Amino acid sequence: MRDGFGRKITYLRLSVTDRCNLRCRYCMPEDGVCLQHHEEMLTEEEMITAVEAAAALGVTKLRITGGEPLVKKNIVSICQKCSEIKGIKEICITTNGVLLPELGGALRAAGVNRVNLSLDTLDPDKYSSITRVGTLDKALAGLEAALSVGFEKVKLNVVLIGGFNDDEITALAELTLRWPIDVRFIELMPMTEGFPPEAFLPCAAVLERLPELERVPEKGGTARLYRLPGALGNVGLISPVSDHFCASCDRLRLTADGKVKPCLHSNAELSLKGLDRAGMEEVLRQAALAKPRCHEPLSASEMSGAGREMNRIGG
Ligand code: SAM
Ligand code: SF4
Repeated sequence: MRDGFGRKITYLRLSVTDRCNLRCRYCMPEDGVCLQHHEEMLTEEEMITAVEAAAALGVTKLRITGGEPLVKKNIVSICQKCSEIKGIKEICITTNGVLLPELGGALRAAGVNRVNLSLDTLDPDKYSSITRVGTLDKALAGLEAALSVGFEKVKLNVVLIGGFNDDEITALAELTLRWPIDVRFIELMPMTEGFPPEAFLPCAAVLERLPELERVPEKGGTARLYRLPGALGNVGLISPVSDHFCASCDRLRLTADGKVKPCLHSNAELSLKGLDRAGMEEVLRQAALAKPRCHEPLSASEMSGAGREMNRIGG
């Protein structure tokens, strides 16, 4: 399936829930989600049908996200069923890692290939502050679990926040010297209020801090890749604000309440809730055609037009 600008759509990000066991300041409000009626959310069966529809249209890569996907009841069974869908070649999960010690082995056995784990700091107090309710020990236990159960790839997602973790760029990047993981610095996107302009640091700050980083050729993906000499994994730079990657956008997003989002930073949404497989295929096709060439500029003063917090989209 191609969009109106000839871009091939091969990647679906499926948000299985908008709920979360953390409350990251850049992602969701302190008091959690505004509860939607159960009937408004996709059922497990509808999620599987939507992935089948997407696969029939040429989607090969699936990312399971949220909210926190591991708090979703039946997450292992959802992953198992998705992994059995013809055409789906790779299943990745993005998680805060807190529940990975319990669920990592079962997810791997259910066919999840890769895991991205979010970790913005190695300082226990800062971790509790940015997540509002989390403890660093649990996230680190999640990382160890991810490494021990044999996922094909483990990546750490670090949201780069000026005045918060810019003093930890070196320590975080040096995790790639200890473990076979990629550490990816992601520019803070203006999705919630409350961050001062200096919080929005471009990824160039990582290159300034670590001049020894060597460029690594990438095979697609949104990250520019680098490596510290002697490292076991890459350092990735993801720059949605300073250098967007719209020209190579290959994705659609499906929210837990059944809205297909053609673009993360637009409030355009097409519902596939309640439709049969053929109806879902049609909505996915329309969503691909509704993808804009590029989203509006983002900056400290230009908030995303997403119309939802990240936990309600599936970041
Ligand atoms: N709960 C899971 C987690 O935290 O990994 C999955 C959902 S979370 C919305 C997905 C990713 O979006 C996380 O890596 C998170 O750091 C990132 N994210 C959330 N809000 C963001 C923002 N305002 N700017 C940049 N990245 C953001
Ligand atoms: Fe939850 Fe992930 Fe959002 Fe943090 S970034 S509040 S862990 S959904």
